[in-house]
Amino acid sequence: MKKYHKPLIVITGASSGIGAATAKLFSAQGYPLLLLARRIEKIEALGLPDTLCKKVDVIDYDSLKAAIIEAEALYGPTDAIVNNAGVMLLGDIASQDAKEWKEMFDVNILGLLNGMQAVLPQMKERQHGTIINISSIAGRKTFPNHAAYCGTKFGVHAITENGREEAASFNVRMVTIAPGAVETELLSHTTSEAIKVGYGVWKDEMGGVLDPNDVASAIAYAYNQPQGVNIREIVLAATKQQ
Ligand code: NDP
Repeated sequence: MKKYHKPLIVITGASSGIGAATAKLFSAQGYPLLLLARRIEKIEALGLPDTLCKKVDVIDYDSLKAAIIEAEALYGPTDAIVNNAGVMLLGDIASQDAKEWKEMFDVNILGLLNGMQAVLPQMKERQHGTIINISSIAGRKTFPNHAAYCGTKFGVHAITENGREEAASFNVRMVTIAPGAVETELLSHTTSEAIKVGYGVWKDEMGGVLDPNDVASAIAYAYNQPQGVNIREIVLAATKQQ
């Protein structure tokens, strides 16, 4: 195995938005990467050096784990995973299709737990590692038409903090990153045109939202602390966001 100066970082949902920005930042800092998403052509198009790209749906634990084993054979043990893959399908409880709730809980909660379990035993064994879970400001407060999405993101805060308590004595860090609105593809999957239009108006009235690079910087800041320092949570949002 070639010797790398920096350890392997795994990023789920690296094909767009926050995940792609984080991949570019960590790559520029010299980390070898495993990038995961369903749209493999988009992660390959990033063209990053020392990077393995795999088509993985985070709901499928076996393919997630297999990709990590393949990357570790190339780059050594995983030192961090950024569980970033997520979907936001806005809707109201009275009328939203239950399939949309299931998709959000599958990806945002079970997919994130899959990512945690795929690396945690090895990190505990090595007594080193960091799990960074991407939540949302919608994991701290509620917003109209966000009931199920908020449910998943409040869950991410709870899971991460509980995981931190579980892993702390093994010198493994867990971090929750909770961004406010960010300019990405996230809203585009919501099926209600009226909700999408309303969200767009809210963003415009606010005078702009975060750039994905702002969130990538927060992720890298938390990770690049000494291993003895666990930044437990970062909440960041556009200054004008209420
Ligand atoms: P994007 O829609 O741009 O990115 C979402 C990423 O998740 C894509 O790379 C997508 O890849 C991936 N993804 C979705 N479902 C799956 C799946 N089943 N398996 C693997 N990958 C999947 O949105 P963002 O960058 O905004 O979202 C990233 C994270 O940030 C999410 O967890 C989101 O909830 C959170 N967030 C976003 C905010 C915002 O305003 N944008 C605010 C707060 C938090 P692909 O489709 O190729 O599989």
